[in-house]
Amino acid sequence: MKTNILSLTFRKVDCPASASVLVGELRVDGEHVGDKYALNVHALAQALLREGEHFIFTCGCGVPECAGIHEGFKSQIAGDKVVLVGSLPKGGSMAFTFSKAQARNAVADALTAAKPLVDELGRQEEGGETVMGFPHVPYGYDDFIENLRT
Ligand SMILES: [Zn+2]
Repeated sequence: MKTNILSLTFRKVDCPASASVLVGELRVDGEHVGDKYALNVHALAQALLREGEHFIFTCGCGVPECAGIHEGFKSQIAGDKVVLVGSLPKGGSMAFTFSKAQARNAVADALTAAKPLVDELGRQEEGGETVMGFPHVPYGYDDFIENLRT
């Protein structure tokens, strides 16, 4: 079975009214996936760590149903592979097979690279959502990177 390569980057979206937000962009084999939706980075990381249903993509407001997403992606972990299967109203059906280590490290690397900005933005607004999907950033952020690395 072909193994897909996951990459994650962050884009800073400035908001004049409140603190800026870091929005994750997911690429699989270099293709931007789910670009019509907001990426829940926390859910993506969870999908790489735990089997089950994960709402990796959501509406900009954080409620998947609002964007017509009623089913999450299904994650299956077998050996050193993680398989993600799901579909999006705009984007269709998808099935990806990742190397567990490659995918987890890619997310951990992106979170690590974003950390200085997370710390900076976190100081501006206490309790604000700095990275989409991480409601209590920077609280718990480092632990999350640890989990992905092990
Ligand atoms: Zn919404």
